[in-house]
Amino acid sequence: MEVCGGQTHAIVRFGIDELLPDGLSLVHGPGCPVCVTPVEYVDKAIEIAGRPGVVLCSFGDMLRVPGSAGDLLAAKSRGADVRVVYSPADAVAIARAEPEREVVFFAVGFETTAPANAMAAVLARREGLGNFSMLVSHVLVPPGMRAILEAPGNRIDGFLAAGHVCTVMGFEEYEPIAASYRVPVVVTGFEPVDILEGVYWCVRQLEAGRAEVENQYARAVRREGNRAAMATMREVFRVVPRRWRGIGDIADSGLGLAEAYAGFDAERRFGPVLLEAEAAGECISGAVLRGERRPTDCPAFGTRCTPEHPLGVTMVSSEGACAAYYRYRGAAAVAGGRR
Ligand code: SF4
Repeated sequence: MEVCGGQTHAIVRFGIDELLPDGLSLVHGPGCPVCVTPVEYVDKAIEIAGRPGVVLCSFGDMLRVPGSAGDLLAAKSRGADVRVVYSPADAVAIARAEPEREVVFFAVGFETTAPANAMAAVLARREGLGNFSMLVSHVLVPPGMRAILEAPGNRIDGFLAAGHVCTVMGFEEYEPIAASYRVPVVVTGFEPVDILEGVYWCVRQLEAGRAEVENQYARAVRREGNRAAMATMREVFRVVPRRWRGIGDIADSGLGLAEAYAGFDAERRFGPVLLEAEAAGECISGAVLRGERRPTDCPAFGTRCTPEHPLGVTMVSSEGACAAYYRYRGAAAVAGGRR
């Protein structure tokens, strides 16, 4: 399983999965943070954005993620002040420039984006910005990998770990996973040759009966990670339980604001996100995120569900597996169920 949606895109784009011999298949993992953000967080962001005097800031890829009744783009078209930012610091700058407005940053992502989001809170506290807060739905990769390995019917023999997450976090925390579940974990980059080498190293371990962590992405990743980034994350965030859309509740798999930064928590300021049971529907993106099904297994793929008219998050997000299949295989995938 390649954990990261960016790796899935490289695999599908360059046809790497089609080059592999029989008996070796790549399973696409849940590493698209937009895809696993629970629908209730999207609903909460829309509700907050609709309040008078609020500026809701988000990265652009969250704007088309469907909530239970529309998305942030639709809220913006109704007049809500929803602004796309390219850095969390941009949201802090808006709060600084517009002190009469409540500025809320929708903080979503894996460990990769957590340090920059944490820095936004540090900046806001340093400057005493009382009109800045964050709606936080961060997720952590290792608990997600454990949940996949412990799921009934798990068939994952090895992982390509996400290189950019490990650039921040290092890979020490993957070593107990490799040892206790007896699965190779290869920290892997994003170029086609990185992925091919990651697959090769994984297979080499399996054939030798080894289950270790190896670092294919050594040009960017150190075992201990980026200590300064991790220290900022630990100052601002605490580990919390988190629901992953399509996967379910996973203990200790998310980040929420630590008590020292609780004053910047949008859920304290605007009310908590109330999670409900996920409704079953035509979309099988949950099974896609769990690696149980492929986009081409979905009867709606490329017909009723396209990037222009997405039915589920894995088609909305630029990192989603359905979007990757549609973008790079398009009509051929629809017609032939091509994998
Ligand atoms: S093709 Fe669309 S409906 Fe089918 S699983 Fe993907 S996102 Fe869901």
